[in-house]
Amino acid sequence: MNYYDDNTILYLDGRFVKAREAKVDLYTQSLHYGYSVFEGIRSYKTENGETKIFKATEHYQRLRISAEALNIPFDYTVEQLIDATYEVLKQNNLQDAYIRPLVYSPANMSFNKNAESHLVIAVWEMPLFFGDKLLKVMTSSFERPNPKAFKIHAKATGHYVNSILASQEAKANGFDEALLLDLNGYVAEGTGANVFFEKNKVLYTPAKGNILPGITRATVIELCNELNISVEESFFRPGKMKGADSCFYCGTAAEIVGLESLDNVPFKLKWEDSLGYVLQQAYKDLIREKNDADTNFIGQSSSVELLEAAVSDTTRAE
Ligand code: PMP
Repeated sequence: MNYYDDNTILYLDGRFVKAREAKVDLYTQSLHYGYSVFEGIRSYKTENGETKIFKATEHYQRLRISAEALNIPFDYTVEQLIDATYEVLKQNNLQDAYIRPLVYSPANMSFNKNAESHLVIAVWEMPLFFGDKLLKVMTSSFERPNPKAFKIHAKATGHYVNSILASQEAKANGFDEALLLDLNGYVAEGTGANVFFEKNKVLYTPAKGNILPGITRATVIELCNELNISVEESFFRPGKMKGADSCFYCGTAAEIVGLESLDNVPFKLKWEDSLGYVLQQAYKDLIREKNDADTNFIGQSSSVELLEAAVSDTTRAE
């Protein structure tokens, strides 16, 4: 995958610079210890042709919350970052894009706090993900990080070593992706996505505490409320999910993607007959701001509050 070429522009510490000319200090504490925070955001070309960053405020608030959780200086306002991102998209002539802001540390081989940080915002083309392909998922032998060992509500780069190990293990075993359990053996999430499953017309998703409570997860719950779909947040073991009616992963990059099977046990319903499919269509309309979507209001609704509630709830599941 080519993330950039000779013409690609980055936002780096307040300036717009060519990606090929941008430099990073090899002595940065971030590279050596996985000590930085980031976001994964998407922008879409809406029905009326405009470029819209989906849930921009929520993502940049989470970036600030992540930086604060890790004691990384963060001197930007959400508005500044949103403006800078629209400008980077414009300078790269992109609409359906993936946006990757990263806050990283200066040269520092100690574990001490830094007085400053760096911020880069990179963008690259990412077509819509929704496809027919359903995922074959295995229960990982890796657990999600223990909330008493990491600030797991923060999107910190170091946490993703866990995701890389789990994803590579799944692929080496012939699966598409992994499902990770929490420290208590309850279902937690995918390597970069939250999970929902359907049984008897009710959706279930792991409760907050041992997961990254995603912005897409919050959007799905809002859509469920709007569409009168019952959704329960609880702690459950993988046995409850296996052979259920249907199941899906959701996240900014993955959007909403159905699962074919868990540990080779298929989900019962055809994807097109599942609640996940209904939500996938509603989500598609929402991101594209389709006018006839009766869920358009959700884009301006209370998901900031939902997010803040999510990140402040770090209660452990017992
Ligand atoms: N869990 C993990 C571990 C993730 O990396 C992501 C992607 N950020 C998610 C869940 C989904 O989060 P969001 O919907 O905010 O992208």
